[in-house]
Amino acid sequence: MHVEADPEVITQAVREARAGGKSIGVVPTMGALHAGHVSLVEAAASECDFVVVTIFVNPTQFAPDEDLAKYPRTLEADLELCRAAGADVVFTPAATTMYPPNSQSVVSVSRISRMLEGESRPGHFDGVTTIVAKLFNITEPDRAYFGQKDFQQQLVVRQMVRDLNFGVNIVTCPIIREADGLAMSSRNRYLSPDERQTALQIKQSLLLAQRMASETQASPAKIADVMRQKLRQTPGINLNYAVVVDTDTLNPVTEGVDHAVALIAARVGSTRLIDNLVLQFR
Ligand code: AMP
Repeated sequence: MHVEADPEVITQAVREARAGGKSIGVVPTMGALHAGHVSLVEAAASECDFVVVTIFVNPTQFAPDEDLAKYPRTLEADLELCRAAGADVVFTPAATTMYPPNSQSVVSVSRISRMLEGESRPGHFDGVTTIVAKLFNITEPDRAYFGQKDFQQQLVVRQMVRDLNFGVNIVTCPIIREADGLAMSSRNRYLSPDERQTALQIKQSLLLAQRMASETQASPAKIADVMRQKLRQTPGINLNYAVVVDTDTLNPVTEGVDHAVALIAARVGSTRLIDNLVLQFR
């Protein structure tokens, strides 16, 4: 496995692979890898001939008051996981390489990136789409792998790919969870043992929502209300949003739909967590 910080060398490597008849898969990450990331690399390795993992803590997707400076960085362990999962190349650019002082362009998706996460974290998705566009241009992939964990993010990236004719197939992989149900996240390591327990209520609320959807006549709006009530009553949780919305548009859904996604964002202590579950209505 080759580890490389120079974008030109990466482009050269993927072009060589393609010239040899290989399909290219890319897995964009910010490092601090866990089993969730590993599942994306494994999916890429099973479906593509040449797999590029990118590790870059992208400064433009963090607001000034967010955790950029303290975001976990565990490069050596990350490289081991990438190697074991079947990566061919790991791209580890410097921030000054990706954003030289005179860079002036931003990729911005309107509407879907302004809702929910976009409302709570203004500018976040502009940072995401800008870096993902750059990574796509550098790695020229056939397929790119994202986690359902960041449900809105994969929709925003799909929108960008359609709008800008990127010609990359976006693959969304299932959420990998801890044994007790907590969605794996690089940020879970910020949680104290008590907070870690409290955080389980997020998944519990999603399960409650699924039970209501499959076992009762409750409307999507009612289900969202119950999730909000449950989370607002939980000491130690500061709810950001809990909604039940359309899986493609993130617009509210009405009664009679056969599925919808429940999305939750909440702060546990100072750690902001997100999770989601696609609900099947009976
Ligand atoms: P990040 O390093 O947090 O930017 O995440 C990189 C990619 O891994 C994104 O596509 C995430 O959605 C995905 N990811 C993060 N956590 C999980 C998880 N628990 N299960 C599946 N995919 C995940």
